[in-house]
Amino acid sequence: MSIVKSKIRTIPDYPKPGILFRDITSLLIDPEAFRLTIAMFVERYQNQGIQKVVAIDARGFIAGAALAFQLGVGFVPVRKKGKLPGKTISEAYALEYGVDHVEIHIDAIEEGEKVVIMDDLIATGGTLEASIKLVQSLKGIIHECATIIDLPDLGGAVRIKEKYGINVYSICEFEGH
Ligand code: AMP
Repeated sequence: MSIVKSKIRTIPDYPKPGILFRDITSLLIDPEAFRLTIAMFVERYQNQGIQKVVAIDARGFIAGAALAFQLGVGFVPVRKKGKLPGKTISEAYALEYGVDHVEIHIDAIEEGEKVVIMDDLIATGGTLEASIKLVQSLKGIIHECATIIDLPDLGGAVRIKEKYGINVYSICEFEGH
């Protein structure tokens, strides 16, 4: 855990002043730390009957695809609006100013399939919440949500647990925004 955390680089004032951007590219470039990150997710989700890994555009795809490969299960992308070519359903989520949408192919998950939803980081939880709604609309069963990083001061994981009864597992936490 501390090895993974120590490899995440913080870039102040990106993408705007006041934001501390938690950059996973410095983790991904380190083969041992990258392997360890994926190994922690694999250990947690193997032998749990997971049938699909659902991951969020775009940084969620990195660990999500590696986890799906290691578990030997399908990978499902949740993408930003307008990127998926087939028939989709869509969910809005709040941005600091305005709203955006995430989408999933309607045939990506079968009723009753057990899934894990992954992103790189949970802050307010808005992006994960929209993805939870998409999976639930397709009648998938969400085993857990998983991120590399949690920003607990923003309360996203607690809110998701309270609202949906779904646990959010994160490898490490950073204080602040
Ligand atoms: P939220 O919907 O508020 O939980 O925000 C989570 C999404 O925004 C994730 O997809 C992250 O990649 C991105 N994000 C939010 N805050 C940060 C941050 N401080 N550093 C890096 N990425 C962030």
